[in-house]
Amino acid sequence: MTVVRDVPKQLFIGGTWQDAESARTLSVDNPATGEELCQVADASPADGQRAVDAAVAAQAAWAATAPRVRSEILRRAYDLIIERTEVLALLMTLEMGKPLAEARAEVAYGAEFFRWFSEEAVRIDGGLTTAPDGRNRLLVTRQPVGPCLLITPWNFPLAMGTRKIGPALAAGCTVVLKPAPQTPLTSLALAAILTEAGLPAGVLNIVTTTDAAGVVEPLLRGGQIRKLSFTGSTAVGRILLAQCADTVIRTSMELGGNAPLIVFEDADLDTAVEGTMVAKMRNMGESCCAANRIYVHTSVAREFAARLTTRMAALRVGPGTEPGTDVGPLIDATARSKAHDLVQDAVKHGATVLTGGELPTGPGCFYPPTVLAGLTPEAAINDTEIFGPVAALVTFDTEDQAVTAANDTEFGLASYLFTQNLDRALRVADRLESGMIGLNTGLVSNPAAPFGGIKQSGLGREGGRVGIDEFLEYKYIAVPVGA
Ligand code: NAP
Repeated sequence: MTVVRDVPKQLFIGGTWQDAESARTLSVDNPATGEELCQVADASPADGQRAVDAAVAAQAAWAATAPRVRSEILRRAYDLIIERTEVLALLMTLEMGKPLAEARAEVAYGAEFFRWFSEEAVRIDGGLTTAPDGRNRLLVTRQPVGPCLLITPWNFPLAMGTRKIGPALAAGCTVVLKPAPQTPLTSLALAAILTEAGLPAGVLNIVTTTDAAGVVEPLLRGGQIRKLSFTGSTAVGRILLAQCADTVIRTSMELGGNAPLIVFEDADLDTAVEGTMVAKMRNMGESCCAANRIYVHTSVAREFAARLTTRMAALRVGPGTEPGTDVGPLIDATARSKAHDLVQDAVKHGATVLTGGELPTGPGCFYPPTVLAGLTPEAAINDTEIFGPVAALVTFDTEDQAVTAANDTEFGLASYLFTQNLDRALRVADRLESGMIGLNTGLVSNPAAPFGGIKQSGLGREGGRVGIDEFLEYKYIAVPVGA
């Protein structure tokens, strides 16, 4: 396939494409067919170190590059991404599985981080105030934190990269990106685009590897990396936080979710069903913000379940490249088994399957859109991220019950609530323990908004006005008055 053939397959270090030192390669597969798409370089720890050395070498010059110049490189890259929407969308569909329409939407969403942060690059501010005792002027400036390590998952191959690369470059930081081994092609294509947009050598380096732990740990312990920005599971986030503790590296952690979605009796049911479809089925349910537990007031539960089941059963499952496909394959066989095991466990504990729930035969990692009613507290879904197209419904009777159940999790990334009562909306939003809330909507992601979680869903925010702060340090200079 031409789009795959045209993507560089090597490591990107110091502005040049290079084979892994060991000449090892890793296989990139199409989850819709199980077939190999291509091989890309499989980095060793020594390759990782070379990438960090390149980022360190480029740091001073990039930090000294005028903000307008940094901004315009990002803006040119934004234009190029948009211009190449079809190529990038097809690449993502091939390596990750999502339907082409969703991949195109990710291109628009992912590109927007470059446009947003191209605008923020020229607005990095400081301050000058007088100390309360009048003896000193307090001059505050902002500086790039330094070389950063960025680690991303496979579920949004473009956007998870641009959401980190955009603010880091805008702030004046150089970076090493380690994408997920399932979806390296989009990141490699992005490196080519940034180079075309004029990014100097060494500012962005890309290391693809099957040995994430072996490559990353020495880099975090080596003392050259000043910042880790990680998106992935909470389990891996905990390991990386511990490694960063030893060298006191700044971290941003975008970790796992277990989003509750609450439908109150006064919700507009059309809006609630539509919002639930988006919150549940965007990216086949393989989203950190995916609705994992759906609480519906008893008085509307039957009607809501019937309407949701009709919508879910009507979705077309198939390869993302086929026109009309609504639901592509899951990322791999392990992800599919996990979703199916969770469904079987829920049924064992008393839930009823309203649609789906059968493991399909044939090639590809497909799983049918599934609705479960009557999820009981014993079911593993209550505290496990499903990461698949499974909607699990629970009924409730009082607002207090719904909020207590929604908050009964170690995670706190996204929550959703559906109600037409403004007092209730604000009261419940206040009480929900999550970094983001969708009020009468199933979509919270927006490059202009601060994306991130509380509790064990993470530390820090990506996007919005604060996204660039994650890559900047304050420096305060005391200036005696009259000096
Ligand atoms: P994962 O297993 O934690 O992997 C994420 C990334 O970390 C991959 O590149 C992975 O490479 C790497 N990694 C794994 N172990 C590592 C280690 N010991 N040292 C360094 N790097 C390591 O997560 P995933 O299964 O790919 O992604 C799904 C998870 O990401 C879900 O929990 C989801 O909620 C979360 N997520 C969160 C957000 C957010 O913004 N909060 C967004 C998207 C996804 P390997 O694959 O080679 O191990």
